[in-house]
Formats: sequence, C-alpha cells, structure tokens
Amino acid sequence: MEVIVRLSVFFGILIGMLVWEAWRPTRRLQLQRLQRWTVNLGLALFNILVMRISVGAAAWQASIWAAEQSVGIFNVLILPSWLSIAGSLLLLDLAIYAQHVAAHRWRWFWRLHQVHHTDIDFDTTTAVRFHPMEIMLSMAYKVVLVLLLGAQPMAVIMFEVILNGCALFNHGNVSLPGGWEKRLRYLLVTPDMHRIHHSARPIETDSNYGFSLSCWDRLFKTYTSQAQLPQTEMTIGLNGFREPNELGFFGLLALPFRRLRLR
Ligand SMILES: [Zn+2]
Repeated sequence: MEVIVRLSVFFGILIGMLVWEAWRPTRRLQLQRLQRWTVNLGLALFNILVMRISVGAAAWQASIWAAEQSVGIFNVLILPSWLSIAGSLLLLDLAIYAQHVAAHRWRWFWRLHQVHHTDIDFDTTTAVRFHPMEIMLSMAYKVVLVLLLGAQPMAVIMFEVILNGCALFNHGNVSLPGGWEKRLRYLLVTPDMHRIHHSARPIETDSNYGFSLSCWDRLFKTYTSQAQLPQTEMTIGLNGFREPNELGFFGLLALPFRRLRLR
C-alpha cells in the first residue's frame, strides 16, 4: 500500500515535470537527453531494486513499531493527531536539510553525494541521481529520526511523498513566472533556487541545501538568492567532472572509491 501511493505520486509528478520541461525549458541542455536519462533513471531503478531487497520500507516499519511500543517524542506526548503529523513533517524536513549540509561538509559523505552533483545538466531526472550507498545511509538516518520523534506511519508516508515530489519539482528545467517564483520561494524551494545549488561555483554549490521548505536556508544563513551568472548561463555540475564519458552508470557507482577531486 505504502509503495503504491509513493510510486503513483512519484510517476505522476515525473511525467508532469517532463511535459513542462519539454514545453518551456529554462536552459538548453548540453548533453543528449538519452545519454543522461539512461544514467539517471538507471541509477533510480538500481536504487529501487537495491532498496526492495534490503531496507526499502524500514522507516515505515520503524514508525509502526514505535507506535506499538510507545517509543519517541510524539508517541509519549499525547497531542492531537494533526499536530503530531505536522510536527513530524517539520522536524523531518529540518533533519534532511541538516543531512544535506553534512553531505557537503564531511569529506567521506561528499564522496557519495558528489555523484548527484556531477550531472552536467539539470532537469527533473537529476532528482533521482544518487549513489545507492547514499540512499541506504539516508534510510538508516530516517529510521533513527522516526524512532526519536515517534513519527506516525501516516507522517512517514506523507514525508516521503512530499520530499520526492518537491525534489522532482525543484530539479526541473523550468522557471515560474517572476511574481509566482518570488511568492512560492517564501515557502518552498523553487527550481531557480535549487539550480543555484547545482552551480559549479563552490560558494554556490555550498548553499541552498533545502529540499522542501525554503526557510531553513534563510534561518541558518546558507541562502543564496541569486547566482553570480544568470540562470540560463551558469555552469552546472562540478569543475572536476566535465567529461561525460567518465560519468556513465558504472563510473558513477565507482566514483566514491576513486581519488577525491578538488572542486
Ligand atoms: Zn547537494
């Protein structure tokens, strides 16, 4: 059930974003779509398979166990259900922001996370380009969070759906009209805001870490409102990785174990 809800929302938003990108793309892509999509969607599929045979629903199962055993803050506090769900969603989003900051600051973690940033272009498929070890690590982190918070199973599903939906949206090669962009950015991370995080300028890469809510970057002073170059001209990716041929499926799987390149 949990999987069906997640996958149908995921594919619905993915298709919507692909149509939007084809209709009104923000940037001209550097590489052939087929070349990048095979790699990005290949990694996504591989990650789904790896998670299926390992710990795919671990966070969800942890939330059921925590509720049965009365483990975690929201299972101990007797709050209205809507309030504990809202609290869990907010705190989980903050925790994912913190994880993303750590992924950029800790060298060993960057080895995994750089796979996501080596994409030379930026479109909705970039949202699923992750090394399987980073996905597994994220799941372990989420299990710990769910147990600490005592997040309800409903909150866990909602969190996953919102996070995946926001990631597909904010990696889109699309831009909202000026007024809407500004208004939405007060609340959510927009494609123009997150594209700055994929700029090859290190000072810009190391900013705008949020995935869903945009408030954490403002609050913790990691916010960049505008890149140095216009959105259509800035270089996407990492300076050390400009050769698409070394960024194939197997190249990316091996990347964390190779010598670290300066950014
Ligand atoms: Zn990042």
